[in-house]
Amino acid sequence: MTPSASRPRHLLDFTEWTPERLTALLDNAETMGQVLDRPVKKVPALQGLTVCTAFFENSTRTRVSFELAARRMSADVVSFAAGASSLSKGESLRDTVEVLTAYKVDAYIVRHPASGAAHLVARYSGKPVINAGDGRRAHPTQALLDAYTIRQEYGSLEGKTVAIIGDIRHSRVARSNAELLPKLGAKVVLCGPATLLPVDLAALPGVTLSTDPKEAVRGAHAVMALRLQQERMSGGYLASLQEYAATYQVNDALLAEAESGAIVLHPGPMNRDLEISSDVADGGQSRILRQVENGQAVRMSVLYHLLVGRE
Ligand code: ASP
Repeated sequence: MTPSASRPRHLLDFTEWTPERLTALLDNAETMGQVLDRPVKKVPALQGLTVCTAFFENSTRTRVSFELAARRMSADVVSFAAGASSLSKGESLRDTVEVLTAYKVDAYIVRHPASGAAHLVARYSGKPVINAGDGRRAHPTQALLDAYTIRQEYGSLEGKTVAIIGDIRHSRVARSNAELLPKLGAKVVLCGPATLLPVDLAALPGVTLSTDPKEAVRGAHAVMALRLQQERMSGGYLASLQEYAATYQVNDALLAEAESGAIVLHPGPMNRDLEISSDVADGGQSRILRQVENGQAVRMSVLYHLLVGRE
């Protein structure tokens, strides 16, 4: 991949990212995946640079894979955890970011419960920022690793249909996939109970909505289950979890309605036997651990894209 000066400075969402650039990013992730298959899983691409993972909300997969991705490219990594910081003493996000930037941090990876927080860090720091999940708004590297996993299976996203089932309303993963996958030629069907399915998402190109999971998975090449984001639910969106699972759980019966051999995705963390049955999560069509594995290569590619060869 040839570095160029016109590439976006941040990955906050996909607004500034063209299909060509997104495809280059996924192509480069394949090269990064080859690095991870070597006995020595390290390249010098980010030597001398310092990357800060600033997590104001919990994470397992995203934080660990970003840290590993940066280290595998020889960056120095500083990990900032909100609970153990001066934020708990009342310091503002702006002051915190200005302090970290004074230590010569070169790039930020930010997770925050508030939508738009990553944009603020970009403004306060003046450094490249990767959004690792902001509120219900966006989680672009998750969508990229989902796209990468589907592409790995089918060779291309062109003409594929992806059904995303669950708590669409509170899911940044659903939003980012609804922005990304159509840019790469796929159709997206978002499905959940009416209370968890915001109608405005139907305005996105290539996106349709359904409250009927059987209808949603018909013709789907990939079926993604989403967790109920109870930490973001303020009202009574569901009559009961049992009723929800009875209709919307991704299980063998629902999967039988999809294209034969359709793959199953889940961004994690899973609530087994609620939004997805254990049989499906551990079954032959599941690519859930493949998604986890791919996350590291995709995040290496994003870091490379934003930090190497600029200017
Ligand atoms: N890990 C994803 C996120 O941070 C999905 C989830 O939490 O359910 O948005």
